[in-house]
Amino acid sequence: MSDHHSDHRGDEAGRHFETLAIHAGQPADAATGAVVTPIYQVSTYKQDGVGGLRGGYEYSRSANPTRTALEANLAALEGGRRGLAFASGLAAEDCLLRTLLAPGDHVVIPNDAYGGTFRLFAKVVERWGIAWSVADTSDVQAVRDAVRPETKLIWVETPSNPLLGITDIAALAGVARQAGVRLVVDNTFASPYLQQPLALGADVVVHSTTKYMGGHSDVVGGALVTSDAALGDELAYHQNAMGAVAGPFDAWLVMRGIKTLAVRMDRHCSNAERVAEMLAGHPKVTEVLYPGLPQHPGHEVAAKQMRAFGGMVSFRVAGGEDAAVAVCNRAALFTLGESLGGVESLIEHPGRMTHASAAGSALEVPADLVRLSVGIESVDDLLTDLRQALG
Ligand SMILES: *Cc1c(COP(=O)(O)O)cnc(C)c1O
Repeated sequence: MSDHHSDHRGDEAGRHFETLAIHAGQPADAATGAVVTPIYQVSTYKQDGVGGLRGGYEYSRSANPTRTALEANLAALEGGRRGLAFASGLAAEDCLLRTLLAPGDHVVIPNDAYGGTFRLFAKVVERWGIAWSVADTSDVQAVRDAVRPETKLIWVETPSNPLLGITDIAALAGVARQAGVRLVVDNTFASPYLQQPLALGADVVVHSTTKYMGGHSDVVGGALVTSDAALGDELAYHQNAMGAVAGPFDAWLVMRGIKTLAVRMDRHCSNAERVAEMLAGHPKVTEVLYPGLPQHPGHEVAAKQMRAFGGMVSFRVAGGEDAAVAVCNRAALFTLGESLGGVESLIEHPGRMTHASAAGSALEVPADLVRLSVGIESVDDLLTDLRQALG
């Protein structure tokens, strides 16, 4: 039996997030003293006699020391017992769904989920006999009403992508517990620095580590974290059986990014706040969607369950779709592109880009919507660029 996923929390009791981000799961290398966990670019391991594994490693799909370090780190940051690292956020979601669901089951999904999550449910998982229905997860009663006898899980994304809706995680954990179903929270937009769903009662946290965790737009990755040890074992079994693991270099890049997560998030949040305030007073902007604004309908819940309000800001432009597309095209410092969470600021038109796959569905997004991933550049330069892009 392998021991590479032993619980590291003993050494870490009482340590704070910023410390765990740098050290959890990453003692100095036993062989060399290397301060940074090496990239173990290797597929297989010498055995000391048949079955004599060193540290539990036999084959890198099952486990790899660089990935193990990241997985222990992810578990520590989310306050969970088990972290698992995948080749992408969607690979993590796929593993979770195929571990928890069987034909005949039903899931409740949010009415503003990430487009790729929606596509996974609507175009892939549905063909295997899994029913889904859409609910406004910011409305606790609407979720309660959407639960059926066959429901196995409630899926939540908060803040949501791209509408920045806020869901009360603790309230939905209560709904899930009462119904005997599991609550899954996609924590990609907040990151564990801003929000810790397991402590609020969620069963599993999902991440696209491509975004804030990696933080430098140089890697695609995903993660699952749970505090349920038995579920963690089941997920690890399926991770190995299905095989969409994070490679050693990708795992290393995500770990390197995580070391600065806390300081990056502080700057993302303060820059985004300034951007949201400027946009809220701009004559060409009809609505700003940012949970940090007091007029946002989820502001109070966000203030209760998040440390700060995040780096994502969406807004609607007067003049409709053409005007929104023109703003995206005129931005110069904000790079026109998909994805989010990197140090550089990005701008995009969700209707034609990230959320094009939701067109015509209950998850269609407004055509006049622009989404910003506010980076950590000088906020004055960011404000200047947005003002010129708005014309
Ligand atoms: C990007 C994203 C995903 C999917 O992750 P990939 O790494 O692109 O597969 C899932 N959820 C949210 C909220 C995302 O932003």
